[in-house]
Amino acid sequence: MNENLSITQPFSGAPVALRARGLRHRFGQTEALRGIDLDVLAGEVLAVMGPSGSGKSTLLHMLAGVLCPDAGTVEYGGKVISDLGEVERSKLRLHEFGFVFQFGQLLPDLSAVDNVSIPLMLSGISRREALRRAREELGRLGLEDHTSKLPGQLSGGQAQRVAVARALATQPRILFADEPTGALDSLSAEQTMQALISVVRQAGASLVIITHDPRTAAYADREVIVRDGSISSGNPVQVTQ
Ligand code: ADP
Ligand code: MG
Repeated sequence: MNENLSITQPFSGAPVALRARGLRHRFGQTEALRGIDLDVLAGEVLAVMGPSGSGKSTLLHMLAGVLCPDAGTVEYGGKVISDLGEVERSKLRLHEFGFVFQFGQLLPDLSAVDNVSIPLMLSGISRREALRRAREELGRLGLEDHTSKLPGQLSGGQAQRVAVARALATQPRILFADEPTGALDSLSAEQTMQALISVVRQAGASLVIITHDPRTAAYADREVIVRDGSISSGNPVQVTQ
């Protein structure tokens, strides 16, 4: 871990890209989030750790505008995203954010390059240009020889790298990853993390990554720990602003 950004030090410097304050959320009787404040800085890799059921995925969905909080706000680009309508929030997710999940996110009947080209075409780019950019993105992830394979013909690690290429093809400002290496063996997890971090750093995007694995968290600039719906450790908000 970068010692300037260790979890015991206040951090400062880069501008805040996404600012969450007072996030609360219930699912029936379950209090999933109990008042979370969190900043995501431009260009940082932020690891979110914590036990199973502590609220990490709920937090990620809220930061990304997938779920709206019962209370609290998430600000991005000068707007409170929970105040936006569903159409505007989907545009934000398509154009500004990218997502990588644990597994099973590729369409099984489409080749790697077709999978990566989908969000590009959804954002209005022609098929020809989308395929060109998809090939380029797959190349950045070391998958140039696998572009026409179906997901079922790829290893778990290769499939996750295709998912990373798809998430980054639209050049998001923030990439959200929910245990992206959780289903991989340790060698594939390591390779996938290295590829993920390298492309995110090249793109200058922020990465918010949920992980159980301390080796994965070691790639982060900063980490916070979520326990029982609250942040129990780490410096969640920018101290100089
Ligand atoms: P984590 O990702 O840290 O494992 P989650 O955010 O998925 O935790 O879940 C936090 C709590 O909210 C858990 O108690 C979980 O059972 C509950 N929860 C999450 N999603 C739902 C849902 N859609 N419906 C009901 N309860 C949910
Ligand atoms: Mg989860």
